[in-house]
Amino acid sequence: MKGNLLAQILIAFAVAVIWGIVFGPAIEVVAPLGDLFLRLIKFIIAPLILATLVVGIASTGDPKQLGRIGIKTISYYLATTGIAVVIGLGFAYLISPGKGLDLSIPDTTVEVNETGGTVATLLNIIPENPFEALASGNILQIIFFAVFIGLAITLVGKPAAPVRRFFEGFAEVMYKITGIIMRFAPIGVLGLVAPVVGQYGLSVLLPLAKLILAVALACLFHAAVVYSLAVKTLGKTRPLKFFRGIAPTAAVAFSTCSSSGTLPVTFKNTQENLGVSRKISSFVLPLGATLNMDGAAIYQGIAVVFIAQVSGVELTLSQLLIVIFTTILASIGAAGVPGAGLVMLAMVVSAAGLPLEGIALVAGVDRILDMFRTSVNVVGDASAAVVVAATENELWIDEPAADISS
Ligand code: ASP
Repeated sequence: MKGNLLAQILIAFAVAVIWGIVFGPAIEVVAPLGDLFLRLIKFIIAPLILATLVVGIASTGDPKQLGRIGIKTISYYLATTGIAVVIGLGFAYLISPGKGLDLSIPDTTVEVNETGGTVATLLNIIPENPFEALASGNILQIIFFAVFIGLAITLVGKPAAPVRRFFEGFAEVMYKITGIIMRFAPIGVLGLVAPVVGQYGLSVLLPLAKLILAVALACLFHAAVVYSLAVKTLGKTRPLKFFRGIAPTAAVAFSTCSSSGTLPVTFKNTQENLGVSRKISSFVLPLGATLNMDGAAIYQGIAVVFIAQVSGVELTLSQLLIVIFTTILASIGAAGVPGAGLVMLAMVVSAAGLPLEGIALVAGVDRILDMFRTSVNVVGDASAAVVVAATENELWIDEPAADISS
């Protein structure tokens, strides 16, 4: 079933690319298949995060262990995001995607003022009404709610046992639904990828080919070097096995451009193929889908240098440091949804004092760049799950009955 699904997804990819090239923009007719799959995975996100995170926190039991897992997870996320933005900057200077390109801004408007200041953003993590947070799918607020329920279950102990069992059963049901939805993944990939290929003919891509190439290469490099090293040395897992196990997740992320949307699949693959216990995956993955965005960080580094180059600006060391710092912060605040990285870019570019108009140029091909960065975002989350699980002796300990593929 596992190998089968991956093969089906890959075949769907190949077919999608061929259809896109052959039929051009007319292939838009298959888009509803993509929307069908997107809706299927979106409808499960809010209850999945609530249930799994409550179980993840409540099952830790010991507050000391919870604190340790929390510190490991957050440190890993911050460190890899920092490395990612530096790698992005490195590749940008190596490839110089903006050299020789005229700043001819296409007529695209970018919404910049989406964030209402840092304090408001932080305060907004606390939901005024948790049910409204669930209803509107506000992931950070749902995480806040779930963390509190999980902690309180642990503190209350025995009298809260029925609540805990309820969430455990609820999480099982969500995993089951995930398994069923995943069977539609190849159809979804077809419906999502073919229209993108059809819409962006080679003529649109060529002028910005170097930018796309720089992002793609930096993403590959980051995954191949940083995650390989991390899972091998800290995660007691062979890199090849890791990448093979997580490949379907990367493929779904590539097609959907949403880490949150991919979360159900990330759970499935890390538990089933990589042996991460439910306790660890329930804690690390929902947080990662929102807080950890290595691919987006790589993209920030490259896009900023690109914008500086097309504008004829030399970035100073302090500007580069501002880029690294704001990228790490912005990646924590950004949601795992399509195009979030572009909004982050507006923040980073204005913090670095570069002309915002340059963003419009990047916006033209953002969907393609989003595909690469979202894949790295989710593979990064999975690598954290493997590393934290290995260091907590939580790899391959769940019963096979926990298999969620069927
Ligand atoms: N689409 C990305 C994600 O969901 C976020 C981004 O735009 O960088 O992870």
